[in-house]
Amino acid sequence: MQDYAEPVEVLRRVFGHPGFRGLQEEVVRHAVAGGSGLVLMPTGGGKSLCFQVPALCRPGLGVVVSPLIALMEDQVAALRQQDVPAAALHSELDPDEARAIWRDLDSGQLKLLYVSPERLTAEYTLARLDAMRIALFAIDEAHCVSQWGHHFRPEYRGLPVLAERFPRVPRLALTATADPRTVVDIQRQLGLEECPLFRASFDRPNIHIAAEPREAERGQLRRFIRSAGDGAGAGLIYCGTRRKAEQTAEWLCQEGHDALVFHAGLEPAAKRDAHRRFARGDAVIMAATIAFGMGIDRPDVRYVAHTDLPRSPESWYQEIGRGGRDGLPAQALLLYGAGDISLARHRIGESGAPEEQKRVERQRLEAMVAIAESATCRRQILLRCFGEEAPEPCGRCDICLNPPRLFDGTVAAQKLLSAVLRTGRRFGLGHVVDVLRGKTTAKVAQFGHDQLPTFGVGRDLPDAAWRGVARQLVAQGALDVVVENHGELVPTDAARPILKGEQPVMLRQDLVAVAGGGRSAPA
Ligand code: ADP
Ligand code: ZN
Repeated sequence: MQDYAEPVEVLRRVFGHPGFRGLQEEVVRHAVAGGSGLVLMPTGGGKSLCFQVPALCRPGLGVVVSPLIALMEDQVAALRQQDVPAAALHSELDPDEARAIWRDLDSGQLKLLYVSPERLTAEYTLARLDAMRIALFAIDEAHCVSQWGHHFRPEYRGLPVLAERFPRVPRLALTATADPRTVVDIQRQLGLEECPLFRASFDRPNIHIAAEPREAERGQLRRFIRSAGDGAGAGLIYCGTRRKAEQTAEWLCQEGHDALVFHAGLEPAAKRDAHRRFARGDAVIMAATIAFGMGIDRPDVRYVAHTDLPRSPESWYQEIGRGGRDGLPAQALLLYGAGDISLARHRIGESGAPEEQKRVERQRLEAMVAIAESATCRRQILLRCFGEEAPEPCGRCDICLNPPRLFDGTVAAQKLLSAVLRTGRRFGLGHVVDVLRGKTTAKVAQFGHDQLPTFGVGRDLPDAAWRGVARQLVAQGALDVVVENHGELVPTDAARPILKGEQPVMLRQDLVAVAGGGRSAPA
């Protein structure tokens, strides 16, 4: 151990930073000592140094797997500027360039090699690496190895070979995706089950978050920009479609703002121009689809609005995370409509994706809806999506600052939970609502559910209101949606005191009333 370079020394000498941040030091020490592990850090959290420093401290070559050629080239360029001998090996190199890199590798001249996953796992590459001393493997964007979710990349499928073929070389997997299922999947795929998990907090306390049902979108945006913009800094307005992004930009210009538009359908020159103007530091507003994201480094984005429901808490978090990088206060507003929710559900159903994928997407969507319709601190729910328990309400989101009007929904909650239990925890929301509403569908008849005491006890509320009640119970943690199977509802331990009448349930009046089409909620 003593012949290894001291990490803090390397950090200062090579990278010019006075000290490590957050978990970096712990991760680096672990890796320098030869340990493997998984690192979860939000974007901008400083993942790169977690593997770059140990690669430089340990003898041998640091091999970094990265999914995007542009990202590799960026990092390699930055390293070379710090005089670190680094190179990127990927499919866009011509044979001469690749040969030159191999020559440098064989002569031991490189310290860091960025490589695309398919290149790395090719037998040719593995065989040559066998003969070399490897300091560590870093698997960046490690969530790409997981089939759970929408980031899976088939090129990552071969990576389990690293654990088999190089059992003594430390493997460090890094990701900014922290939903618990993805984490478990990464650990399994990369053979990291027995290794430590380094989890940084995903909280961004300087971002104030709020959500409102979309009523008069432009009025709501106007108010938001006025209160959040305050003249300086930039703003981002994420829109659900290209057309809406264009219309929003146009409208913002009419309102006297310096507004830009960005979406995947623009000509490359227009994209570059939009990026450049956004980066320049003026008080611009960018109306964009989610295509605008990668490489936004502007630290003073003061507000981020969504005019449509994002498809998952992870996406929303990523997008609002582009605000307030300078650590100063930033505002996030989410507008959503009941229509968005059904449309998104419908799209998933029609998508032609494998059933497993659809289930995952559905679950993420429902989690997003739960945040939008929450009656309790939104930050707590959001962090829970990343497997983080925040013990106290944040005191800074719209719900904490301005609690919504609640009604005692205990009876409605009990009816719903008991319908779930009586039908045997085997059914999704649609069927449970049919039972509550006393509908004799084929499925109800097939299972004899019209004979249950709960059959028809929910006629006092329309279907949509029951869905609202269920979503709020999910948001409050009394009900789980088991997406691994068929989206069946399963009460959690928190449901028991509710059913026994020991724990009252408060529901948001606005949401059940909106959903309920004006009918009164149960007393
Ligand atoms: P991530 O990959 O997690 O998104 P990066 O590794 O790109 O994050 O780091 C984000 C920024 O933070 C970079 O500009 C990096 O130079 C800076 N940074 C990371 N760690 C430190 C540190 N210990 N001291 C100072 N700056 C740091
Ligand atoms: Zn809060």
